[in-house]
Amino acid sequence: MFLRIDRLQIELPAPKESDPNAAAAVQELLGGRFGEMSTLMNYTYQSFNFRAHDKLKPYRDLIANIATEELGHIELVAATVNLLITGATRPAPPEAAPLGVAKDLRNTHHFIATAQTALVGNSMGAAWSGDYVFCSGNLILDLLHNFFLECGARLQKIRVYEMTTNPVAREMIGYLLVRGGVHATAYARALETLTGVNMTKLLPIPRIENARFPEARKYEAMGVHRTLYRFSPNDYRDIAQIWRGPAPTGDGDLQVVDGPPAGGPVPVLPPLPEEMAPEYDPAEIIALAQKLQAAAS
Ligand code: MN
Ligand code: MN
Repeated sequence: MFLRIDRLQIELPAPKESDPNAAAAVQELLGGRFGEMSTLMNYTYQSFNFRAHDKLKPYRDLIANIATEELGHIELVAATVNLLITGATRPAPPEAAPLGVAKDLRNTHHFIATAQTALVGNSMGAAWSGDYVFCSGNLILDLLHNFFLECGARLQKIRVYEMTTNPVAREMIGYLLVRGGVHATAYARALETLTGVNMTKLLPIPRIENARFPEARKYEAMGVHRTLYRFSPNDYRDIAQIWRGPAPTGDGDLQVVDGPPAGGPVPVLPPLPEEMAPEYDPAEIIALAQKLQAAAS
């Protein structure tokens, strides 16, 4: 089962201006074939379906624990998409066509299907698919797939970084480049314990260091690239049997941190009366919520 903490894994900067086409590009990192929905659901289903996990506990602990971190990654990318769209339209009566600007933007679904918020889909608007989940039941093949998935995700993160200079998008991408590096290394180490093959020699794919990106370098200076967070009050402790020893970056030892990162607040999205979200007259529904809170206290 799962517990939930009402924080993002990092603090995102406040957006300076609306950037809905950057949001459309960032959708690839959420609901694309190599996006966070895919890493989340691949590792989640592999952990659900794992055989003999009583005898192979470190490997199942690793996959299950990284899956939980990925749940926070879809949350972080969704928050980024939401912040990037914020401010795209202004409140006005329907007859004034307050959503008119959206008909010329890349993703009209952001304005019609949701109230200017994240979709479970890619940068071209196609829905995420369960067909992206690989769960063969063969441990070495599944770990090899996960290593490939993290490398594919890294390539696409870098390409989206190259598409937008938006500071909100780049903060999120910088952090997730570092976390993806941790996951690729973790799966490489797991494969090495099973096969003897030093997979970390293949990294990084593509061959450009995370430290090359200022937003990633900041997190590496904090040791985030050597850290595997244990996302559970008491469980998944055997990740430390795989995540240990000197870091491939040569700047210290790999460490398991018990508990999540301190993170940052979940941004408050302002009401959008022109989208009827949360209502055409937000004051009315907010007054009802205040009555509810007053009655409870
Ligand atoms: Mn991720
Ligand atoms: Mn990952």
